[in-house]
Amino acid sequence: MPKAPRGVRTIIALTGRRNAGKSSLINAITNQDIAIVSATPGTTTDPVAKSYELIPIGPVTFYDTGGIDDIGELGEKRIKSTNKILWRTDIAVVVIDDKGITADDKKLIEKIDKLDIPNLIIFNKIDIVLPAKQDLEFCKQHNLNYCLVSASQGQGVEEARKKLVELAPEHLKKERSLAGDLIEKGSVLMLVTPIDLSAPKGRLILPQVQMLREILDNNGIAITIKESEIEEAWAALAKKPDLVITDSQAIEVVNQKIPQHIAVTTFSILFARYKGDLPTLYEGAETIDKLQDNDKILIAETCSHNVQCDDIGRFKIPNWLHKYTGKKFQFEVAAGHDFPEDLEKYKLIIHCGGCMINRTEMGRRILEAKRRGVPITNYGIAISKLNGVLNRTIKPFDLG
Ligand code: SF4
Repeated sequence: MPKAPRGVRTIIALTGRRNAGKSSLINAITNQDIAIVSATPGTTTDPVAKSYELIPIGPVTFYDTGGIDDIGELGEKRIKSTNKILWRTDIAVVVIDDKGITADDKKLIEKIDKLDIPNLIIFNKIDIVLPAKQDLEFCKQHNLNYCLVSASQGQGVEEARKKLVELAPEHLKKERSLAGDLIEKGSVLMLVTPIDLSAPKGRLILPQVQMLREILDNNGIAITIKESEIEEAWAALAKKPDLVITDSQAIEVVNQKIPQHIAVTTFSILFARYKGDLPTLYEGAETIDKLQDNDKILIAETCSHNVQCDDIGRFKIPNWLHKYTGKKFQFEVAAGHDFPEDLEKYKLIIHCGGCMINRTEMGRRILEAKRRGVPITNYGIAISKLNGVLNRTIKPFDLG
């Protein structure tokens, strides 16, 4: 069965000290042995990931993170890498072994708490020793969920699975859709998908595929065309589209060729809504009018191999911004799961659609930008703004 895309998977991170039994716990919960990713075990800084279907949450990825008590240069890298994982974690598990809750564990619990991540303390290795009274007391005093497990003996594993499901944030248990609420039975949706050099060979990109599936699920009618065929398609249609959804790059053409009374939006705006905070990203675009010469702008992309959007982020948006404002800016690019800590130096963050990261990670990025007072918008909203069509592309949504 094909795996669910990364951006829709729930992330469960197993954290704790070295040898607390994190990987045996993942094996026990998923009923499988984890493949060792590194050719030389013990030298990788990347946490090991395991995919699993946790009913009713759906597809999840378990991360076996480096020990929080790791030492040396490599240990430091592993701890940094664990911190990065925590940024996109939906549920954190703190694994405690027969040594009980140590000062390192307490620091970790505090960090998880600050990030507001739902968490579960698992006392592992109960076949060796049961948790100490004061540790159970500590959990009760701090309102921490806990359970008792022996990963090696399979004891308490089912209970741990149940607790993970209970802890999952509500939004993970609900079905979310890109535009399902805008489609009725028989609605006609026209999807404009340019096939240029940046399009992947032989396939459509994730937002387009996801949209097509939603139209079918909602008994709508999908018409998929390139921007060069708009006029022919228009002439051939007896029933005109209820909504046109275009790739942001073709918005100028679409705006000209599709009559003004027809609702138009972009895949990227739908993704801004799907990932969580359309009003904030919309508001962020207003900053474009206030930018000054030499202001620093962060371009954030979440593909580590920027195959699809690098051209937009690194060339097209900077050029359009220059054309629109007549000013020159300094651009910095953050790719993959790297997101700068010193956000304050930027006057604006322009984020990609984030189709490769989950809603939690995107939400944390937006929250962090808000907390530091840095406006944030996304590619699609910025492109609409720079093409003077934002009022039209945002209209299908009620922003209060
Ligand atoms: S850069 Fe962002 S929006 Fe573009 S494909 Fe990658 S994750 Fe998706």
